[in-house]
Order: sequence, then structure tokens, then C-alpha cells
Amino acid sequence: MKITQERKKCIGCGSCAAVCSKYFEMGQDGLADIKGGQMKGENMELEVAEAGCAKEASEICPVQIIKVQ
Ligand code: SF4
Repeated sequence: MKITQERKKCIGCGSCAAVCSKYFEMGQDGLADIKGGQMKGENMELEVAEAGCAKEASEICPVQIIKVQ
């Protein structure tokens, strides 16, 4: 299972980190990071065993850039 975030489109609202601090934190540039994630092209990605709260983050993101597949 993989969490992806189109980081360039992040508007820095902080919602993902608020509902899912397990997987998200706000970076020094004001945009969200996936904790332990790596940039692949313009996306940040992280392989995870289970989606957990990342699903809630995906639902709450106002610009819909978080995907759990
Ligand atoms: S919820 Fe979406 S727009 Fe808001 S900080 Fe997280 S990734 Fe960025």
C-alpha cells in the first residue's frame, strides 16, 4: 500500500497533519511532508503496511492531492 501526495499542489492548510500526525507533518517551507516519505518526481511517496489515518487525511485535504492506493 502506498501513500502519495502531489506536494507542489499543497496549499499548506495543515489539515493532514492535524488528523494524521502518524504520517504527515508540516515542512519548513510550509507545505506538508509525508513522514519518512521520498520525493519521486513531483510527488512524495511512502510505502505503508496499512493506510490507517492516511485515509482521513486523503478525505480532508481541500485540494485532494493525497492518495492511498
Ligand atoms: S491537507 Fe492537503 S493541502 Fe492541506 S497541508 Fe495537507 S497535503 Fe497540503
